[in-house]
Amino acid sequence: MSTDMKFTMTINGESVAGTDRFGVENPAYGEVFAEAPNCSREELDVAIASARTALPGWKKTPIAKRKEIMQAIAGTIAQHGEELARLLTREQGKPFEQAMGDVLGAAHWFVETAKMDIPEVVSQDDDERYAVTRYEPIGVVAAIVPWNFPMILAAFKLAPALLAGNTVVLKPAPTTPLTTLRLGELIKDLLPPGVLNVVSGDDRLGPWLTGHSGIDKISFTGSTQTGRKVMEGASKELKKVTLELGGNDAAIVMPDVNVEAVAQQLFWAAFQNTGQICIATKRMYVHKDIYEPLKKALVEYAKTVKVGDGSQQGTQIGPIQNKAQYQRVLDLIQDAKDKGYTFLVGGDASDAPGYFVPVTILDNPPEDARIVQEEQFGPVLPLMSFDNVDEVIGRANDTIYGLGASVWSADIAKAQEIADQLQTGTVWINETQHLSPHAVFGGAKQSGIGGEGGEHGLLEFCQPKTTFIRRNAVVG
Ligand code: NAD
Repeated sequence: MSTDMKFTMTINGESVAGTDRFGVENPAYGEVFAEAPNCSREELDVAIASARTALPGWKKTPIAKRKEIMQAIAGTIAQHGEELARLLTREQGKPFEQAMGDVLGAAHWFVETAKMDIPEVVSQDDDERYAVTRYEPIGVVAAIVPWNFPMILAAFKLAPALLAGNTVVLKPAPTTPLTTLRLGELIKDLLPPGVLNVVSGDDRLGPWLTGHSGIDKISFTGSTQTGRKVMEGASKELKKVTLELGGNDAAIVMPDVNVEAVAQQLFWAAFQNTGQICIATKRMYVHKDIYEPLKKALVEYAKTVKVGDGSQQGTQIGPIQNKAQYQRVLDLIQDAKDKGYTFLVGGDASDAPGYFVPVTILDNPPEDARIVQEEQFGPVLPLMSFDNVDEVIGRANDTIYGLGASVWSADIAKAQEIADQLQTGTVWINETQHLSPHAVFGGAKQSGIGGEGGEHGLLEFCQPKTTFIRRNAVVG
């Protein structure tokens, strides 16, 4: 194994190299360039025990102090933004500017979350009784993150968990552990030992973590398939869970849009981050009156987009992040070929080294095609025409997923009417993928349980505790 970089876990405020290590690839070349610790069960036990030991002190730390530390974390992330983004591009594949967006987005999430307060709800205050609900930390949180946005998705969990007074064990995906490990190294001295532990490992580590009796709450982002396993494991001790899972977002494009104005926006809705976004547009339904011109505009633009190594200037789309996902996307393309669907652009695997799949657009595949029904999580888009609005709403809703959807129209009232009928946790009108630290984001149906962001997301890291005080009691 040829590597030039080594990283450490953060356990109980210490940097831990680990007894075992594994290689991390650069997906643009399919070559190992660094090593990460392969956390053992014993090392995980120490991490979870230290989080438990740190809990009472962190819980008692005044919230103003916790907020101050969160701002300092944001400052450190921003200060090391370029270093983190370069590393992220190397392990994840995304173009450097977009990696900067992921890193600075994480800093922004800390800054904005630190502006929030934990509510206290007084439900009765009269001569008879005082009743108040306060929100306490749940305890030790297992935060599990996928490989598409390692930094910002970690911040979605860390910021509210720490603000609410929990301690955390954070686990990145095995194919993108480095930026997260580096984050742990950079911020470990800002926090009391044990408050934040960062562990990395192979496929055994996730189940060890979620199944550990020292964990009180699991905040998981990943596929629906893994989410089911996490929930099953959590059921044994009835651990609290937040599950942010897969999606199959539909975009509905109405005939009153200006094709030239929306074509590039719609293209990036589907292909940003090589299509590896939970809320990427994964099915595009275009009204028949503008289907042909929009198809032409999308295909023409697709041919101009530069796919390549994200560290090279000018690259707009990087490789697929890992080999398993690369093979899955190629399998979906092969299925489309076998079925005889029409490819407007793309469709052939690149012969460059690394996990590159060219931008691929399919012309009107049938609704029951795998590429329409399944979450592709790659740069392959089914483009489909529709005639009737009620019918397209039915098609958009006919899925186990319910993460997001978008409606594109010059008529906002009409778009809102359509949006109201879409069974998703988020719906965008004339944009996609905008998320805010002050608004909850979560999946309907099998796209998740609970949500992140806003007060709703913050309270998912809290145990509500109601106190009733009888005022007119006779006790003596
Ligand atoms: P994945 O489910 O394979 O892995 C996610 C994380 O879970 C990784 O850290 C992995 O190591 C860990 N893991 C795997 N098996 C586990 C188990 N049995 N117990 C506990 N942890 C386990 O997902 P992925 O392929 O890394 O990510 C892509 C998926 O994530 C897509 O479906 C995408 O839509 C979804 N996603 C959802 C959101 C959201 O907010 N809803 C955001 C980003 C990605």
